[in-house]
Amino acid sequence: MANVTMDKIVNLCKNRGIIFQGSEIYGGMGNTWDYGPVGVEIKNNLKRAWWKRFVQEDSSTYGVDAAILMNPRVWDASGHTQNFSDPKMDCKKCKQRFRADNLIEEYSKGSISAEAMTNEEMEKYISENQIKCPHCGNFDWTPIRQFKLMFETSRGTLDGDKDIVYLRPETCQGEYVNFLNVQRSMRAKVPFAIAQIGKSFRNEITPGNFIFRTIEFEQMELQKFCKEDDSFNFYNDYKTKAMQFLLDLNFSPEHLKFHDHDKLAFYAKAACDIFYLFPMGWSELNGIHHRSTHDLTRHQEFSGKSMQYLDPITNEKYIPNVIEYSIGADRLMLAVLTEAYNEETLEDGETRVVLKLHPALAPYKVAILPLQKNLGTKATEVYKKLSKTFMCTYDESGSIGKRYRRQDEIGVPFSVTIDFETLENDTVTIRDRDTMAQIRLKIDEIEDYIKPRIQFN
Ligand code: ATP
Repeated sequence: MANVTMDKIVNLCKNRGIIFQGSEIYGGMGNTWDYGPVGVEIKNNLKRAWWKRFVQEDSSTYGVDAAILMNPRVWDASGHTQNFSDPKMDCKKCKQRFRADNLIEEYSKGSISAEAMTNEEMEKYISENQIKCPHCGNFDWTPIRQFKLMFETSRGTLDGDKDIVYLRPETCQGEYVNFLNVQRSMRAKVPFAIAQIGKSFRNEITPGNFIFRTIEFEQMELQKFCKEDDSFNFYNDYKTKAMQFLLDLNFSPEHLKFHDHDKLAFYAKAACDIFYLFPMGWSELNGIHHRSTHDLTRHQEFSGKSMQYLDPITNEKYIPNVIEYSIGADRLMLAVLTEAYNEETLEDGETRVVLKLHPALAPYKVAILPLQKNLGTKATEVYKKLSKTFMCTYDESGSIGKRYRRQDEIGVPFSVTIDFETLENDTVTIRDRDTMAQIRLKIDEIEDYIKPRIQFN
């Protein structure tokens, strides 16, 4: 990741089919992004790796895919209709909008946590310290106003007979409302977890930093339902597992750190983030929260359904505690791209850009490259054979050196070159993205060669 800037990442994404600006031909739509053919593969692989690690390999975790639109009472129970807003201030001079808590935290270089401050306390701090507009440098603020973060839409057949519904601002409520369903239908015994990957929507005041903070994003998260006695063990366990997941995706330990919260929500018993060294500095990548019995208790209260669990062995009845582990798929995508981005100077003095992605995340596992166009028939045969097992890409234009560079830039771990010898003895060269070393193999041996090298374990 040496010397990687956000501009370099954004340009690579745009030029190599990874991520485009949303609705670009209409001038874009602020802070929306579209994944291109290469990006969608990487993101899907990220989601697969997460699901494999946290659902497939854990017999006590069950997946769900809940509806984005939920009964509005869910958001009353979760507190979002009441409290999900940010304190915003506008600069009267340049009309830019900021979050008051961010202004304070940036000014104090993180030494002050504004999370638990009241609006009055924040206004006082900003005034006493004469915190200026980061955009135009003036000190001329509107008072703080609360800015609602939930997107509203409506449903109903007749005008005037519409109900407001919300685009979910977090996926986890889909797990809480299905706690009883999953427990009953799967005969699940506490402790067990429910996991989900899905879209969330937040009308963020200060989105930005490319896909770091957007108004529509995907979350990968799980809720572990457990007894109070075990809850801190699970909390610590998920801290370890969340970190290990990142290390196993080839993140360098120097670029990750735990950040324990010192101020907690009134119901929370512990909370911690993992920070990553993004191009714009250390920022939250994911969170692990001990949420006590708060969520299920609130849903019991608002739905009138008992959320108690009856332990079949001890006959004890209780509302389980919840440990939440949540990571944004898009934020992880940005971290993965940052971490994988490398510029290397080659022996001939040329620079190559290479995305050293974990092979399991690579958009294509194999690039099929006929040395010359008239080798196309044989190369297509190889493509057809390998694409039954792996995502492959085919490139026949430009010098072989240029084609290798293009594959390096999107992180393809193996390039298979078809040459005239291939026609004689069915062998090809396989080039390794990272070492650039080449070996010769029989076409029939390629699959077995690649399979163990692209596993995520
Ligand atoms: P932040 O403090 O950055 O706003 P948060 O603490 O509100 O994040 P959570 O509600 O705990 O975040 O969401 C869990 C994860 O979802 C975050 O760690 C992050 O990876 C991701 N996430 C949250 N908000 C956004 C967003 N607006 N855009 C992209 N990813 C997001």
